[in-house]
Amino acid sequence: MNQIPQNDFSAGTKTAVVIGAGFGGLALAIRLQAAGIQTVLLEKRDKPGGRAYVYEDQGFTFDAGPTVITDPTALEELFEVAGAKLSDYVELLPVAPFYRLAWEDGFVFDYADDQEDLDRQIGAKSPEDVAGYRRFLAYSKEVFHEGYEKLGTVPFLNFRDMMRAAPQLVKLEAYRSVYSKVSQFIKDDQLRQAFSFHSLLVGGNPFATSSIYALIHALERKWGVFFPRGGTGALVRGMVKLFTDIGGRIEVDAEVAEITIENGRASAVRTRGGAVFKADLVASNADVVHTYASLMKTSERGRKHGKALQKKRFSMSLFVIYFGLKTHRPDIAHHTVCFGPRYRPLIDEIFKGQELAGDFSLYLHNPCVTDPSLAPEGMGSFYVLSPVPHLGNAPIDWAVEGPKYRDRILDYLEARYIPGLKADLVTSRIFTPDDFRDELNAHLGSAFSLDPVLTQSAWFRPHNRDDQIPNLYIVGAGTHPGAGVPGVVGSAKATAGLMIEDARASMVRA
Ligand SMILES: Cc1cc2nc3c(=O)[nH]c(=O)nc-3n(C[C@H](O)[C@H](O)[C@H](O)COP(=O)(O)OP(=O)(O)OC[C@H]3O[C@@H](n4cnc5c(N)ncnc54)[C@H](O)[C@@H]3O)c2cc1C
Repeated sequence: MNQIPQNDFSAGTKTAVVIGAGFGGLALAIRLQAAGIQTVLLEKRDKPGGRAYVYEDQGFTFDAGPTVITDPTALEELFEVAGAKLSDYVELLPVAPFYRLAWEDGFVFDYADDQEDLDRQIGAKSPEDVAGYRRFLAYSKEVFHEGYEKLGTVPFLNFRDMMRAAPQLVKLEAYRSVYSKVSQFIKDDQLRQAFSFHSLLVGGNPFATSSIYALIHALERKWGVFFPRGGTGALVRGMVKLFTDIGGRIEVDAEVAEITIENGRASAVRTRGGAVFKADLVASNADVVHTYASLMKTSERGRKHGKALQKKRFSMSLFVIYFGLKTHRPDIAHHTVCFGPRYRPLIDEIFKGQELAGDFSLYLHNPCVTDPSLAPEGMGSFYVLSPVPHLGNAPIDWAVEGPKYRDRILDYLEARYIPGLKADLVTSRIFTPDDFRDELNAHLGSAFSLDPVLTQSAWFRPHNRDDQIPNLYIVGAGTHPGAGVPGVVGSAKATAGLMIEDARASMVRA
């Protein structure tokens, strides 16, 4: 039995509604409930998880989204705040190598937390880059300390906060891109790709995203790369269980249609089904544009801010194929990045192009090498994703192009990575930019919300608390610090801090 934390609001419980049960919404709801704020979590879909939804099909379990789980300490802290232990709810299995990086010319680089092995692999490819990599790692550790440890869970509500961080950001040359910074240390073209592609994992273009995102490298080296036993869905289920164990209430199939604004405050939310939830505090984990432009369209703030947000730059979308094979493929690493023939030109087309590129770079997920329980015995569940332009840049008819694109990708995988794939195929399904838009209400079908360039980061990103409506908050990929599981779990800490502080202040005033 877990100890339920002391209710901080015993003089009269405050209430909160959180819209959306992605990792950000779940983590926020846990923190609020743990602080004694009676919290209801409303989710549009039939299951929680958001981007981390789970498909089950003929005995195969497919995690829809995040598969690379980093910074376990952020999750451990979240469970501790609620008086629980992460390991009592879910087991995190270490993944080795962290990733296998493979190119069409046959070069393969196993990126793992083994300095000797890294030196050996780098040295075999480009001897001068062994020392360069060490310098890059030192840089990465510095930005990790400044950007993640110091600022990752601090809400940037004032320009003053930004100015305080500015000297350090200038010193670290945060105005340069990830790729430009990596290139300062590493000379070999493929190794430059190997150490710069990471920002794509959180929707950032390595040629445009601030070099602060080089911190992901140090973050992985510090704590490792993990995969929950039972899949990422098991982590989602653990978080839901924790939330309900401490008294929280979650409703699925509960799409919010409106956030009611009265006298300059958020007073309630109304679902499509007509249910009304009154609350002292309202937080949205739904897409930021959807939150303002749609859920708040009856208020002036919603209309104005929604319009302003639509003018921002949005991150790329993704095309994902989930597929089950009747064979287990232990020779394929858990995470493989399959680099195509072009790097920069392809990324340019993904972020700015108006149509699908003729080639692709892929991420291939083979979780059964870490946890065979995700497929029937002797079989394998996989997914492969291809970054593609969002719908605002490339208005592709995915109903027509999707099946063709799937076939192209499966042919490519069969030729280069999974011989006999088609003969072994038991089941497959696709998720396109249209699905990001329609299923997740994601503006332009973006997979990662606002593009994390410097001018849309920290204070320049939508704030964790609305500037005009004092009891309305944002959590998740669209606010500070940004996308990725550690990012949105960090955003929940920043947002919860504000909400708990505001609730306490209003109790004192009352
Ligand atoms: C395919 C893929 C792979 C990824 N891989 C990784 C990875 O390996 N590692 C990593 O760290 N990150 C990864 N990411 C990024 C990461 O998954 C996301 O940044 C993160 O999960 C987003 O969480 P979130 O809290 O912002 O909300 P989301 O997951 O977007 O959840 C928002 C929720 O709000 C709900 N919602 C929307 N509108 C309404 C409404 N009106 N009413 C009620 N509910 C509503 C949605 O249904 C959804 O459940 C990946 C993303 C994708 C798409």
